[in-house]
Amino acid sequence: MKVLLAEVDASERTHIQSCIENAGHEVINADNGLDVIDSYLIYSPDLILLDMALPVKDGIDTVFEIRGLSESEEQWVPIILLSENASSKEISKGLDAGGDDYLQLPIDERVFAAKLRAIQRIKKIRKQLYLANRELKLMAVKDGLTGISNRRHFDDVLLKEIKRAVRTQIPVSLIMTDIDYFKPYNDNYGHQMGDDCLKSIAKIMLAQIKRPADLGARYGGEEFAFILPETEMKEALVIAEMIRDSVESLKIPHEYSEVENVVTISCGVATVYPSKKDNVDLLLHSLIGDADKALYRAKDQGRNQVAAAKN
Ligand code: GH3
Ligand code: MG
Ligand code: MG
Repeated sequence: MKVLLAEVDASERTHIQSCIENAGHEVINADNGLDVIDSYLIYSPDLILLDMALPVKDGIDTVFEIRGLSESEEQWVPIILLSENASSKEISKGLDAGGDDYLQLPIDERVFAAKLRAIQRIKKIRKQLYLANRELKLMAVKDGLTGISNRRHFDDVLLKEIKRAVRTQIPVSLIMTDIDYFKPYNDNYGHQMGDDCLKSIAKIMLAQIKRPADLGARYGGEEFAFILPETEMKEALVIAEMIRDSVESLKIPHEYSEVENVVTISCGVATVYPSKKDNVDLLLHSLIGDADKALYRAKDQGRNQVAAAKN
């Protein structure tokens, strides 16, 4: 561990430093409260040991400031307060300001070494929790098979974008896509191949949308949807055509398709041009409904094509 040590008394500092080093850890020394803050920002230590009687900025103020600076769970660092003669009132104030523990000076070598081991255990568990939590957050928005955004995330983003569009009166477009003759693909090549096909298609389609605000998601089994904020119908049709073409260009063999001998998709495109008085829910339903209707027209007209919603 990297241990940031701010101890006023020189002999006590030397003693603590050797205890830390004997336990196999590295020490960064700081002389005063401001120094502690700077070193905290520069070195991201794993543990901070703070004398409560630090000059310039005392221990309690320093703790308070460090806690104000840590923006995420990941940045959390344990802080142990040190003092030879602090009152119980001061100690409780220091812990309430964000300190995690208190050690009486002069330090007892054996207790201190055990405390370092305990801190290491806590750090390890917190790290595991943080990583598991990050994974869970990702899983909540990603589709398990293709790794792209899932339906839940799509619903959240579409609602947000429609609300924004009503506020700004800037259009939003939606592209709905559906794989042509995917049932016969699965029936003949098997589900494993079907899944591989979904993964390849998701990847190539997603590569066609370039703006950071655009979102591509798996809408259902073999249906994918693309939200294009601040995009007119004309531009959305161009993107839909690029998406359609990218799938055809993959040339995934499909002998059982009635359109081509490769896997293809059909796309339906709809756009909302909202006004301030529009109802968000109605707009949302009509956008999805219009894109769906356009998609079915693309299917009816022969598949492997893009159709625009009629207004
Ligand atoms: P159309 O051209 O009219 O869209 O015909 P289709 O055969 O694609 O349409 P249909 O809706 O009848 O078939 C969808 C098929 O997609 C059903 C199922 O076999 C397949 N499918 C849906 N989800 C998955 C999945 O997660 N993995 C695999 N392998 N196949 C899936
Ligand atoms: Mg379908
Ligand atoms: Mg289909």
